[in-house]
Amino acid sequence: MFVDSHCHLNFPELKSQLPEILARMADAKVTRALCICTTLEEFDEVHALAQTHDNLWATVGVHPDNEGVREPSFAQLVTDAQHPRVVGIGETGLDYYRLNGRSIEDMAWQRIRYRTHIEAGRAVNLPLVIHTRSASEDTLAILKEVGLSQNRYTRLDWNICFNKNSGLLCGILNPQLRLTSQDKKNKNMILIHLFSVS
Ligand SMILES: [Zn+2]
Repeated sequence: MFVDSHCHLNFPELKSQLPEILARMADAKVTRALCICTTLEEFDEVHALAQTHDNLWATVGVHPDNEGVREPSFAQLVTDAQHPRVVGIGETGLDYYRLNGRSIEDMAWQRIRYRTHIEAGRAVNLPLVIHTRSASEDTLAILKEVGLSQNRYTRLDWNICFNKNSGLLCGILNPQLRLTSQDKKNKNMILIHLFSVS
């Protein structure tokens, strides 16, 4: 049995072939999948997938690369996170890879959005799905400041994408966390799943 912890089955190119994808999942013994939300606008669609398929679950969150979309408030995330079959907060995080002429300082809005997700995750006690690209230090510093330093998390499951510096993660993380798997898809993308051992 395998679990796909990060997919976007509501994206148009995938949604249009959903029956075939679900059949291929079954063939490959992928028995469960987590559908990751990237905007509040798409949440209903992501959530509907989880409600209509026994083997799909959903998250709620706004991806750091998504601009010009509805900005998530703490209250909205907490409300949506309490829907049945919502099991995580995200996809959240930081992405300094595509600055488009802006400075890192200019990306304060991303850091505020990320903090809002961490605070919501703490409030509802759900794990975070984190995307971080060219922003490892800030991603971890804010997580530790808002989340870990208060020791409110009992469980952390991270998906950390597009991060070349995985060694940094192991060095900085709270010792109660350990690396359980690492999957190199290509030079630019590493998926890391971290679970607390407590
Ligand atoms: Zn994603």
